[in-house]
Amino acid sequence: MTVFEVIRTEGKARRGVFTCAHGTVQTPVFMNVGTQGAIKGAVSALDLKEIGCQVELSNTYHLHLRPGDQVVRQMGGLHKFMRWDGPILTDSGGFQVFSLSGLRKIKEEGVTFASHIDGRRIFMGPEESMQIQSNLGSDIAMAFDECVENPATYEYAKASCERTLRWLERCKAEHDRLNALPDTINSSQMLFGINQGATFEELRVWHMKEISKIDCEGYAIGGLAVGEPTQVMYDIIDAVEPHMPVDKPRYLMGVGTPSNIIEAVARGVDFFDCVMPARNARHAKLFTWSGALNIRNEKYKLDERPIDPDCDCSVCRNFSRAYLRHLFVAEEMLAMRLAVLHNLYFYNKLAQRIRDALDSGVFAAFREEYSEKLAGRV
Ligand SMILES: [Zn+2]
Repeated sequence: MTVFEVIRTEGKARRGVFTCAHGTVQTPVFMNVGTQGAIKGAVSALDLKEIGCQVELSNTYHLHLRPGDQVVRQMGGLHKFMRWDGPILTDSGGFQVFSLSGLRKIKEEGVTFASHIDGRRIFMGPEESMQIQSNLGSDIAMAFDECVENPATYEYAKASCERTLRWLERCKAEHDRLNALPDTINSSQMLFGINQGATFEELRVWHMKEISKIDCEGYAIGGLAVGEPTQVMYDIIDAVEPHMPVDKPRYLMGVGTPSNIIEAVARGVDFFDCVMPARNARHAKLFTWSGALNIRNEKYKLDERPIDPDCDCSVCRNFSRAYLRHLFVAEEMLAMRLAVLHNLYFYNKLAQRIRDALDSGVFAAFREEYSEKLAGRV
């Protein structure tokens, strides 16, 4: 079985097909974030089918704390538990351990931290992260890494990404061991390595070269979109990309705006995820093909048009801007749900239009037309 095939390129942009235990994924792809096994805004796995989602992303840290990965395992794994039969990627917990939890202590073995829910002390290292992700039964497990704070000193970033490399070796060994066990939920679970190195290009390149020697099914660029200028992020992708294996998928973690995604595709990235579409939706900020808008604005009070006349999602086919605005002002729960459904549909559609442009050899023109426009406001 070919795991990943690049079927067409335009410049550095790649149109690919990725195959895992729960199906085939057309890339570039936007993965829809369901942190705790649900998409925030009262959206379920059944809705994901309707809005064009190909890959659902869940969170190791959160599911380990609640309901506990052993509970999910006893319920038959995350696919059965949340009723999603498509591909699932689980992040390693690393990012949340370093961003959410208090009082953390990093050692070579792993990290001891306090749960953000009840303050309970928890230890997580490469082996624990792999065990949790194996219990969840996801299709893609992410390596346990340290996402250093921005800005970081060179010395700290160097020591940290050297340790993240050693952690990847331990992740790989434990992942192989778990996949070979007779009662493993998903014995064909894949492992993606994660590139770190803060904003230091030479560290990033060194780290990418080293992790590419460890046989993973894909490689991610992590630790970006954490407050650095956008151009710095693009420069790091440009520096790292030539050292990423061409025959493996590349995943830019936690990015970003529609414009960021178009620009990263142009730089050779295949996989994306971001909480932005759902988070913005919950704050009444909606994406359209003419730029973003805030549906709470007074000027939409009597607006009979859909959120986006160019969108064919179920929300735009049925409801007016005036109605959406009313729901937000009245603080109806339905406001969030409809807004999240539209914004996620928009992101999945964006990925589809990028793929269509690549298939037709017109991605450069698509980038020219939309990269700036989508960054603006209606
Ligand atoms: Zn819509």
